[in-house]
Amino acid sequence: MQSVAAYGELRLITEIKRWLGNVSPKTPFGIGDDCAVIPPTKRHQLVTTDPVIYGQHFDDTVRPQDVGAKLLKRNLSDIAAMGGRPVAAVISLALAPETDIAWLKKFYLGLAATARAHHVRIVGGDITQGPAGFIGAFLTLHGESTGKRVITRTGASAGDHIYVTGNLGGSLAGHHYNFAPRLAEGRWLAGRSEVRAMMDVSDGIAKDLDSLTTRGLKASLNAATIPVSRAAQLLAKKTQRTALEHALCDGEDFELLIVVRQRADISRFERAWKKRFPRVPLSRIGHFVSGKKLLTGALNLSAYRGYEHLR
Ligand SMILES: [Mg+2]
Repeated sequence: MQSVAAYGELRLITEIKRWLGNVSPKTPFGIGDDCAVIPPTKRHQLVTTDPVIYGQHFDDTVRPQDVGAKLLKRNLSDIAAMGGRPVAAVISLALAPETDIAWLKKFYLGLAATARAHHVRIVGGDITQGPAGFIGAFLTLHGESTGKRVITRTGASAGDHIYVTGNLGGSLAGHHYNFAPRLAEGRWLAGRSEVRAMMDVSDGIAKDLDSLTTRGLKASLNAATIPVSRAAQLLAKKTQRTALEHALCDGEDFELLIVVRQRADISRFERAWKKRFPRVPLSRIGHFVSGKKLLTGALNLSAYRGYEHLR
Protein backbone atom coordinates (compact mmCIF):
# COMPACT_ATOMS: atom_id res chain seq x y z
CA MET A 1 0.00 0.00 0.00
CA GLN A 2 1.23 3.46 -0.89
CA SER A 3 0.19 6.51 1.09
CA VAL A 4 -0.62 10.01 -0.16
CA ALA A 5 2.24 11.33 2.01
CA ALA A 6 4.73 9.20 0.03
CA TYR A 7 3.46 10.69 -3.24
CA GLY A 8 3.80 14.37 -2.38
CA GLU A 9 1.56 17.14 -3.64
CA LEU A 10 2.86 17.67 -7.18
CA ARG A 11 2.74 14.03 -8.16
CA LEU A 12 -0.67 13.73 -6.55
CA ILE A 13 -2.07 16.59 -8.64
CA THR A 14 -0.65 15.05 -11.83
CA GLU A 15 -2.26 11.73 -10.93
CA ILE A 16 -5.60 13.37 -10.08
CA LYS A 17 -5.68 15.10 -13.49
CA ARG A 18 -5.02 11.73 -15.11
CA TRP A 19 -7.79 10.05 -13.10
CA LEU A 20 -10.26 12.77 -14.03
CA GLY A 21 -9.38 12.53 -17.73
CA ASN A 22 -11.69 14.53 -20.00
CA VAL A 23 -13.80 15.61 -17.02
CA SER A 24 -11.01 18.09 -16.23
CA PRO A 25 -10.77 20.74 -18.99
CA LYS A 26 -7.55 22.50 -20.03
CA THR A 27 -6.39 25.57 -18.15
CA PRO A 28 -7.68 28.30 -17.70
CA PHE A 29 -11.03 26.48 -17.76
CA GLY A 30 -9.71 23.70 -15.54
CA ILE A 31 -7.00 22.75 -13.08
CA GLY A 32 -3.67 24.58 -13.34
CA ASP A 33 -4.15 28.30 -12.75
CA ASP A 34 -4.89 30.31 -9.60
CA CYS A 35 -8.58 30.13 -10.42
CA ALA A 36 -10.57 28.24 -12.99
CA VAL A 37 -12.50 30.37 -15.48
CA ILE A 38 -16.19 29.66 -15.99
CA PRO A 39 -17.46 31.36 -19.15
CA PRO A 40 -20.33 33.85 -18.62
CA THR A 41 -23.94 32.97 -19.29
CA LYS A 42 -27.21 34.91 -19.16
CA ARG A 43 -28.77 32.51 -16.68
CA HIS A 44 -29.11 32.62 -12.89
CA GLN A 45 -25.97 31.21 -11.29
CA LEU A 46 -26.42 28.56 -8.59
CA VAL A 47 -23.80 27.54 -6.02
CA THR A 48 -23.96 24.81 -3.42
CA THR A 49 -21.51 22.92 -1.22
CA ASP A 50 -21.64 19.65 0.69
CA PRO A 51 -18.96 17.37 2.12
CA VAL A 52 -18.45 13.66 2.67
CA ILE A 53 -16.55 12.82 5.84
CA TYR A 54 -15.36 9.43 6.95
CA GLY A 55 -17.42 8.16 9.88
CA GLN A 56 -20.17 10.68 9.16
CA HIS A 57 -21.30 10.18 5.55
CA PHE A 58 -19.55 6.92 4.73
CA ASP A 59 -17.61 4.11 6.38
CA ASP A 60 -15.57 1.07 5.34
CA THR A 61 -18.65 -0.71 3.99
CA VAL A 62 -18.96 1.84 1.16
CA ARG A 63 -16.68 1.39 -1.87
CA PRO A 64 -14.39 4.37 -2.56
CA GLN A 65 -15.88 4.89 -6.05
CA ASP A 66 -19.32 5.14 -4.42
CA VAL A 67 -17.99 7.72 -1.95
CA GLY A 68 -16.70 9.85 -4.84
CA ALA A 69 -20.03 9.49 -6.63
CA LYS A 70 -21.98 10.33 -3.48
CA LEU A 71 -19.99 13.51 -2.92
CA LEU A 72 -21.04 14.87 -6.29
CA LYS A 73 -24.58 13.47 -6.18
CA ARG A 74 -25.40 15.16 -2.84
CA ASN A 75 -24.57 18.45 -4.49
CA LEU A 76 -26.40 17.54 -7.70
CA SER A 77 -29.49 16.92 -5.59
CA ASP A 78 -29.34 20.54 -4.38
CA ILE A 79 -29.09 21.83 -7.96
CA ALA A 80 -32.04 19.57 -8.87
CA ALA A 81 -34.05 21.09 -6.02
CA MET A 82 -33.76 24.53 -7.65
CA GLY A 83 -34.66 23.18 -11.08
CA GLY A 84 -31.13 23.87 -12.29
CA ARG A 85 -28.46 22.24 -14.39
CA PRO A 86 -24.96 21.51 -12.99
CA VAL A 87 -21.95 23.06 -14.69
CA ALA A 88 -18.63 22.83 -12.85
CA ALA A 89 -17.22 21.76 -9.50
CA VAL A 90 -14.17 22.33 -7.32
CA ILE A 91 -13.14 19.89 -4.63
CA SER A 92 -11.08 20.31 -1.46
CA LEU A 93 -9.63 17.31 0.29
CA ALA A 94 -8.30 16.95 3.82
CA LEU A 95 -6.55 13.60 4.02
CA ALA A 96 -4.71 11.77 6.76
CA PRO A 97 -1.11 11.26 5.61
CA GLU A 98 -1.57 7.48 5.67
CA THR A 99 -4.52 7.57 3.21
CA ASP A 100 -4.13 4.80 0.63
CA ILE A 101 -3.45 6.04 -2.93
CA ALA A 102 -5.43 3.10 -4.31
CA TRP A 103 -8.45 4.27 -2.28
CA LEU A 104 -8.06 7.82 -3.53
CA LYS A 105 -7.76 6.70 -7.14
CA LYS A 106 -11.02 4.76 -6.95
CA PHE A 107 -12.66 7.71 -5.21
CA TYR A 108 -11.68 9.97 -8.12
CA LEU A 109 -12.75 7.44 -10.74
CA GLY A 110 -16.20 7.28 -9.12
CA LEU A 111 -16.36 11.06 -8.97
CA ALA A 112 -15.24 11.36 -12.61
CA ALA A 113 -17.78 8.80 -13.86
CA THR A 114 -20.62 10.65 -12.12
CA ALA A 115 -19.35 14.00 -13.40
CA ARG A 116 -19.20 12.64 -16.96
CA ALA A 117 -22.71 11.23 -16.71
CA HIS A 118 -24.07 14.63 -15.67
CA HIS A 119 -21.84 16.82 -17.90
CA VAL A 120 -20.10 18.40 -14.90
CA ARG A 121 -16.51 19.56 -15.29
CA ILE A 122 -14.14 19.27 -12.34
CA VAL A 123 -12.24 22.55 -12.66
CA GLY A 124 -10.09 22.79 -9.56
CA GLY A 125 -9.35 21.80 -6.03
CA ASP A 126 -7.01 21.71 -3.13
CA ILE A 127 -5.42 19.07 -0.94
CA THR A 128 -4.41 19.59 2.66
CA GLN A 129 -3.14 17.20 5.26
CA GLY A 130 -5.70 16.13 7.82
CA PRO A 131 -5.23 14.44 11.20
CA ALA A 132 -4.62 10.68 11.43
CA GLY A 133 -7.66 8.68 10.39
CA PHE A 134 -9.41 11.65 8.80
CA ILE A 135 -10.79 11.65 5.28
CA GLY A 136 -12.91 14.62 4.29
CA ALA A 137 -13.86 15.76 0.81
CA PHE A 138 -15.66 19.06 0.27
CA LEU A 139 -17.22 19.83 -3.07
CA THR A 140 -18.58 23.14 -4.32
CA LEU A 141 -20.85 22.81 -7.32
CA HIS A 142 -21.79 25.59 -9.71
CA GLY A 143 -24.90 25.37 -11.81
CA GLU A 144 -27.36 27.53 -13.68
CA SER A 145 -31.09 27.90 -14.10
CA THR A 146 -32.67 26.00 -16.95
CA GLY A 147 -35.74 28.15 -17.55
CA LYS A 148 -37.12 31.53 -16.63
CA ARG A 149 -37.10 30.87 -12.92
CA VAL A 150 -35.36 29.00 -10.15
CA ILE A 151 -37.59 27.28 -7.58
CA THR A 152 -36.82 28.35 -4.02
CA ARG A 153 -38.10 27.08 -0.68
CA THR A 154 -40.29 30.11 -0.03
CA GLY A 155 -43.83 30.95 -0.97
CA ALA A 156 -46.05 28.18 0.43
CA SER A 157 -49.59 29.40 1.16
CA ALA A 158 -52.52 27.94 3.06
CA GLY A 159 -54.19 25.23 1.01
CA ASP A 160 -51.11 24.44 -1.10
CA HIS A 161 -50.48 20.75 -1.72
CA ILE A 162 -47.37 18.89 -0.60
CA TYR A 163 -45.85 16.26 -2.88
CA VAL A 164 -42.77 14.06 -2.64
CA THR A 165 -40.97 11.99 -5.29
CA GLY A 166 -39.80 8.40 -4.82
CA ASN A 167 -39.96 6.39 -1.60
CA LEU A 168 -38.64 7.39 1.79
CA GLY A 169 -36.63 5.87 4.63
CA GLY A 170 -34.01 3.21 5.26
CA SER A 171 -31.35 4.98 3.20
CA LEU A 172 -28.57 3.42 5.30
CA ALA A 173 -29.27 0.10 3.55
CA GLY A 174 -27.64 1.55 0.43
CA HIS A 175 -29.78 4.37 -0.96
CA HIS A 176 -27.55 7.00 0.73
CA TYR A 177 -24.92 6.41 -1.97
CA ASN A 178 -26.67 4.60 -4.83
CA PHE A 179 -29.45 7.14 -5.42
CA ALA A 180 -29.97 9.04 -8.68
CA PRO A 181 -30.24 12.81 -8.17
CA ARG A 182 -33.61 14.06 -9.48
CA LEU A 183 -32.15 16.49 -12.02
CA ALA A 184 -34.50 15.77 -14.92
CA GLU A 185 -37.46 15.85 -12.54
CA GLY A 186 -36.36 19.12 -10.92
CA ARG A 187 -35.88 20.75 -14.27
CA TRP A 188 -39.29 19.63 -15.47
CA LEU A 189 -40.94 20.83 -12.24
CA ALA A 190 -39.26 24.25 -12.58
CA GLY A 191 -41.06 24.63 -15.88
CA ARG A 192 -44.49 23.90 -14.39
CA SER A 193 -46.57 26.85 -13.26
CA GLU A 194 -48.29 24.66 -10.63
CA VAL A 195 -45.07 24.44 -8.60
CA ARG A 196 -44.65 27.11 -5.93
CA ALA A 197 -41.63 25.93 -3.91
CA MET A 198 -39.26 22.98 -3.73
CA MET A 199 -36.33 21.44 -1.84
CA ASP A 200 -34.53 18.12 -1.68
CA VAL A 201 -34.92 15.72 1.24
CA SER A 202 -31.61 15.35 3.06
CA ASP A 203 -32.55 15.28 6.76
CA GLY A 204 -35.90 13.48 6.52
CA ILE A 205 -39.21 15.16 5.70
CA ALA A 206 -40.20 15.53 9.39
CA LYS A 207 -37.44 18.11 9.66
CA ASP A 208 -37.04 19.32 6.07
CA LEU A 209 -40.71 20.31 5.79
CA ASP A 210 -40.04 23.11 8.32
CA SER A 211 -37.96 24.87 5.68
CA LEU A 212 -40.94 25.00 3.31
CA THR A 213 -43.44 26.04 5.98
CA THR A 214 -44.28 29.72 5.89
CA ARG A 215 -44.84 31.39 9.27
CA GLY A 216 -48.40 30.96 10.45
CA LEU A 217 -48.82 27.77 8.45
CA LYS A 218 -48.63 24.14 9.44
CA ALA A 219 -48.01 21.07 7.32
CA SER A 220 -50.91 18.66 7.58
CA LEU A 221 -49.81 15.20 6.42
CA ASN A 222 -51.83 12.06 5.90
CA ALA A 223 -49.80 9.09 7.24
CA ALA A 224 -51.43 6.65 4.81
CA THR A 225 -50.05 8.55 1.80
CA ILE A 226 -46.39 8.69 2.89
CA PRO A 227 -44.42 6.56 0.41
CA VAL A 228 -42.56 4.22 2.76
CA SER A 229 -39.64 2.43 1.08
CA ARG A 230 -39.08 -1.32 1.24
CA ALA A 231 -35.76 -0.59 2.97
CA ALA A 232 -37.63 1.31 5.71
CA GLN A 233 -39.99 -1.63 6.22
CA LEU A 234 -37.07 -4.08 6.48
CA LEU A 235 -35.19 -1.78 8.83
CA ALA A 236 -38.23 -1.42 11.11
CA LYS A 237 -38.14 -5.18 11.73
CA LYS A 238 -34.70 -4.77 13.31
CA THR A 239 -35.22 -1.51 15.17
CA GLN A 240 -37.75 -0.57 17.82
CA ARG A 241 -39.23 2.01 15.45
CA THR A 242 -41.98 1.92 12.88
CA ALA A 243 -41.40 1.96 9.11
CA LEU A 244 -43.24 5.30 9.02
CA GLU A 245 -40.83 6.79 11.52
CA HIS A 246 -37.92 5.67 9.38
CA ALA A 247 -39.57 7.20 6.31
CA LEU A 248 -40.08 10.53 8.08
CA CYS A 249 -36.78 10.77 9.93
CA ASP A 250 -33.94 8.75 8.40
CA GLY A 251 -32.88 11.35 5.84
CA GLU A 252 -30.46 11.06 2.90
CA ASP A 253 -33.42 10.23 0.66
CA PHE A 254 -32.41 12.87 -1.90
CA GLU A 255 -35.96 13.03 -3.19
CA LEU A 256 -37.80 16.24 -4.07
CA LEU A 257 -40.33 17.81 -1.72
CA ILE A 258 -42.68 19.97 -3.76
CA VAL A 259 -45.26 22.63 -2.93
CA VAL A 260 -48.06 22.88 -5.51
CA ARG A 261 -50.47 25.82 -5.63
CA GLN A 262 -53.88 25.24 -4.12
CA ARG A 263 -55.58 26.45 -7.28
CA ALA A 264 -53.62 24.16 -9.59
CA ASP A 265 -55.44 21.47 -11.56
CA ILE A 266 -53.72 18.67 -9.65
CA SER A 267 -55.15 15.79 -11.66
CA ARG A 268 -53.72 17.40 -14.80
CA PHE A 269 -50.40 17.94 -13.00
CA GLU A 270 -50.29 14.33 -11.81
CA ARG A 271 -51.17 12.99 -15.27
CA ALA A 272 -48.42 15.09 -16.86
CA TRP A 273 -45.92 13.75 -14.30
CA LYS A 274 -46.92 10.14 -14.97
CA LYS A 275 -46.48 10.65 -18.68
CA ARG A 276 -43.05 12.25 -18.33
CA PHE A 277 -41.71 10.09 -15.45
CA PRO A 278 -43.69 6.83 -15.56
CA ARG A 279 -41.23 5.04 -13.28
CA VAL A 280 -40.82 7.67 -10.57
CA PRO A 281 -43.53 7.71 -7.91
CA LEU A 282 -45.05 11.09 -7.07
CA SER A 283 -47.13 11.14 -3.88
CA ARG A 284 -49.46 13.85 -2.62
CA ILE A 285 -48.83 13.56 1.12
CA GLY A 286 -50.73 16.52 2.53
CA HIS A 287 -51.24 20.26 2.41
CA PHE A 288 -50.57 23.43 4.35
CA VAL A 289 -53.16 24.80 6.73
CA SER A 290 -53.21 28.13 8.55
CA GLY A 291 -53.11 28.28 12.32
CA LYS A 292 -51.36 26.13 14.84
CA LYS A 293 -53.96 23.48 15.45
CA LEU A 294 -53.55 20.04 13.95
CA LEU A 295 -56.43 18.77 11.83
CA THR A 296 -58.03 15.58 13.09
CA GLY A 297 -56.30 12.56 11.59
CA ALA A 298 -53.23 14.56 10.55
CA LEU A 299 -49.76 13.30 11.41
CA ASN A 300 -48.24 15.00 14.44
CA LEU A 301 -44.86 15.80 12.91
CA SER A 302 -43.42 17.28 16.08
CA ALA A 303 -43.49 13.76 17.53
CA TYR A 304 -40.91 12.77 14.92
CA ARG A 305 -37.51 14.26 14.80
CA GLY A 306 -35.44 14.35 11.66
CA TYR A 307 -31.76 13.73 11.68
CA GLU A 308 -30.12 16.51 13.69
CA HIS A 309 -26.78 17.79 12.48
CA LEU A 310 -24.13 18.56 15.09
CA ARG A 311 -26.02 16.77 17.81
MG1 LIG B 1 -30.66 20.53 -0.11
